[in-house]
Amino acid sequence: PENQLPADPSKKTLVVLGSGWASTSLLKSLDTENYNVVVVSPRNYFLFTPLLPSTPTGTIELRSIMQPIRHILRHKKAAVNFFEAEATEIDHENKILKIRDNSDVTGDVKENSIKYDYLVVGCGAETQTFGIPGVEEFGCFLKEIWDAQKIRTRIMDCVEAALFKDQTPEEKKRLLHTVVVGGGPTGIEFAAELADFLEEDLRRWYPEIKDDYQVTLIEAMTNVLPMFSKKLIQYTEDTFAEQNITIHTKTMVKSVDEKYISVSVTKPDGTSELQKIPYGLLVWAGGNKPRKVVVDIMKKLPAQKNARRGLSVNDYLVVEGCEGIWALGDASQTKYAPTAQVAAQQGAYLGRLFNSMARTHSLEADIAYLQSQLAVTPVDAPARAGLEAELEAVGKALSRTKQMSPFHYSHQGSLAYIGSDKAIADLQLPFMKDLFSSGGAATYLFWRSAYVSNLFSLRNKTLVVFDWVKVKMFGRDVSREG
Ligand code: FAD
Ligand code: NAD
Repeated sequence: PENQLPADPSKKTLVVLGSGWASTSLLKSLDTENYNVVVVSPRNYFLFTPLLPSTPTGTIELRSIMQPIRHILRHKKAAVNFFEAEATEIDHENKILKIRDNSDVTGDVKENSIKYDYLVVGCGAETQTFGIPGVEEFGCFLKEIWDAQKIRTRIMDCVEAALFKDQTPEEKKRLLHTVVVGGGPTGIEFAAELADFLEEDLRRWYPEIKDDYQVTLIEAMTNVLPMFSKKLIQYTEDTFAEQNITIHTKTMVKSVDEKYISVSVTKPDGTSELQKIPYGLLVWAGGNKPRKVVVDIMKKLPAQKNARRGLSVNDYLVVEGCEGIWALGDASQTKYAPTAQVAAQQGAYLGRLFNSMARTHSLEADIAYLQSQLAVTPVDAPARAGLEAELEAVGKALSRTKQMSPFHYSHQGSLAYIGSDKAIADLQLPFMKDLFSSGGAATYLFWRSAYVSNLFSLRNKTLVVFDWVKVKMFGRDVSREG
């Protein structure tokens, strides 16, 4: 069945995919009374990803960085329909979206379709594995809450398994070796959080493993954190060395099995060598790839043949090669990096764009009405002059509304936590042409305050601050999760 929504037939149906950075930002700025708004997302909450790397070690609890979508939608003027489901197929020719409830509990109806007038694709991206054998099976990603829960369980599982009666020294070493693949900010921040956990908690509660626990970060390129300035890359590498985190650059993972990671290491003379690294826990932070629903529509549209990272869009975020579909955030391919900052700004822009489109339609309807009055009704001269003046005013308002400028991204800077209460920041300050770079403990305080002020609600802000205080007072919990 198509479109069983209690929709107002006088309004267009706007379907928004996702409840992440891009879509929630759009929903915040959208005047929902102008459309029949439907949100489709497999998770019924917004996740504050910048603090996700702090959750697998228990520095921050997951619930502190989740905000239910219902809380977000509650504040809107007109009701918004929410379906906890995945978008599985976009039929762009007939403007029909197929959805499926993929959660553990479903009712008799778990598949359906929605007829849309406008569709916004804000469904984010998946973790890139490049199809490397064994990564999906043996590695842990760090993108969703269940990833963080899985890592949290595995860290303690590896520790307890290493301490099993009569475990051999080699096996103990293997189990206590955590390998993080990817020297982007996700990999760096997780490795840093893990080093803190080791230093501040594990060594205290498990003194017998103190010399055996090892953290290694593997990166295929010549250096980590390419989006940061050279000075801060060096500062990060030095800080990692102090925390005993080994960084292997120019090292590419080729395959993974239950106990070993096979890598190809590029040597200074340009030749490469294959090596096998024993590991207990593998955290894979290899970047982004588009989701299946996005890949499928990309394949259907010839205009998308060069798109790789996501749907190619024009300056107004309209998907190239079709009508009535916009894409933003990690689901889109633009000249900007796939960050929360970009996604949030695109969402706010698109919300304004839809508000402006609704106003345009309403002004066009006014013009049509005034023109019909002038054409069919016999009006006297003063009344005609009045109608004409009104028509001119509405016409001017319409051309002002139609002058919506293209999306413009304003970069605020990059921030990352690097462990031992230190952070790095490349900031774009209003009065400076170049980036302002800083690293250390003061930057860490700035990092904390910037993230807290960006958290969604007072509830989230309070919970995160409580978590930080709790860890300072009592340390992190070393019970295995699950
Ligand atoms: P997401 O926020 O990922 O949201 C996608 C939404 O779509 C989710 O609600 C998801 O459930 C939903 N969805 C998934 N599949 C479907 C489907 N089939 N149909 C419908 N909905 C679907 N960026 C920064 O700028 N600063 C940071 O500090 C930072 N830290 C990060 C830390 C980590 C660990 C990670 C993984 C990323 C971080 N990022 C950061 C990047 C940032 O999180 C992303 O760029 C941002 O989330 C993109 O927003 P989005 O709305 O496009 O996607
Ligand atoms: P990324 O794309 O930034 O980094 C992935 C890294 O993995 C790359 O450097 C790549 O060379 C490496 N890699 C991939 N395959 C490999 C292999 N087989 N062997 C060895 N190395 C391999 O990914 P990310 O860190 O997850 O970040 C994704 C996006 O989210 C980025 O745009 C990033 O800026 C953003 N983000 C920002 C922050 C922050 O600002 N603090 C934190 C996390 C993520």
